[in-house]
Amino acid sequence: MEPDRRILHVDMDAYFASVELLGREELHGRPVIVGGDPGFRSVVTSCTYEARKHGVHAGMAMTRALNLVPNAVILSGSFARYKTYSNRVFEVLLSFTPRVQATSIDEAFMDLTGTSGGIIKRAREIQKAVYDATSLWCTVGCGPNRLLAKMASNLNKPKGAGLLMPDDIVDLPVGAIWGIGPGTAGKLGMFGIDTIGRLRTLSRGVLRSILGSGGEEIYRYARGIDDRPVRFFGYREPPKSMGHEHTFSHDVSLPEEYMPALAMVCQKTGYRAREGGWLGGVVTLKYRLRNMKRITRQKILASPTDQDQTILQAAEKMARQHIDEPIRLIGVSISHFVPSESAQLSFFPEKTVELNRAADRVRNRYGDKAMVSARSLEYIQRKC
Ligand SMILES: [Mg+2]
Repeated sequence: MEPDRRILHVDMDAYFASVELLGREELHGRPVIVGGDPGFRSVVTSCTYEARKHGVHAGMAMTRALNLVPNAVILSGSFARYKTYSNRVFEVLLSFTPRVQATSIDEAFMDLTGTSGGIIKRAREIQKAVYDATSLWCTVGCGPNRLLAKMASNLNKPKGAGLLMPDDIVDLPVGAIWGIGPGTAGKLGMFGIDTIGRLRTLSRGVLRSILGSGGEEIYRYARGIDDRPVRFFGYREPPKSMGHEHTFSHDVSLPEEYMPALAMVCQKTGYRAREGGWLGGVVTLKYRLRNMKRITRQKILASPTDQDQTILQAAEKMARQHIDEPIRLIGVSISHFVPSESAQLSFFPEKTVELNRAADRVRNRYGDKAMVSARSLEYIQRKC
């Protein structure tokens, strides 16, 4: 049976250790552990399957690993090489689809929905293409969503390819579900729930009472339901919000008193947005009254921005409209972000872009107060 969404999880096999073995025939078939010097309480970063057979795994203390496999070859690891090979792997994956979401240096989800042909056949093609380009093996799990694809790759390691549909997972232990660690598995075990099939007999309410707010997610995962998208390569999770605030040394209520500070927090916020490569679509003004009551006001912008002046304009308007008694704190934040590179084509550039870019260069060299607007200059002089 072919899934309607065609999601793949590509996971390199014993990645760091395998890269270390490239071109070193003498190490093949030997237990190889990548990690720090055993004398320094270091841990295992990666190890070959020959070492795994003896119970060694990533995250284990190096001294313990050496107790298990005294004749292991210890290598210290060369991160630059792992990055180089990772780039090659992703180049190969991107030749199949732009929907490649990296989840680590050696793992990615791919979305091949809409393509034809058997999905396992596709998985094998990808595996072979990766091997041809790098001499490294990966395992490819397939499923109708990220959850099942990831579970499929875990089950088929190493050098494997496999498909999991929701009905295939009932006999698996609950720990096979993404997000169920040993702690949660132990809790469920106390109720006699050891397999995913048994987990399905619990209602949402019961799961929530055992596992708290995470119970809802586990209820869906137990049924193989997961609608998270596979993002395009290079996608970044936007921050919730970013902003700054200023506490006055004495309460103020007039615009000429609070505007220098407001201009300064807007400048800092705009700078952070530009450095992070985000444009915010909503400006939030917040202030605190004498009685500590916190008030927030929001304004949706015509188009998202990372410009101090635009943020300040919105914040000032709200401040003049709403602040009518003494305040002890003022702050601004922006939220509802889009990446600046995706917006460059779709919005008219703001007049201040070049000015702020030049100012940022000065600030990056000489500090954030080296170049400020006339309005926030007073903030620095007065520092109220
Ligand atoms: Mg891996």
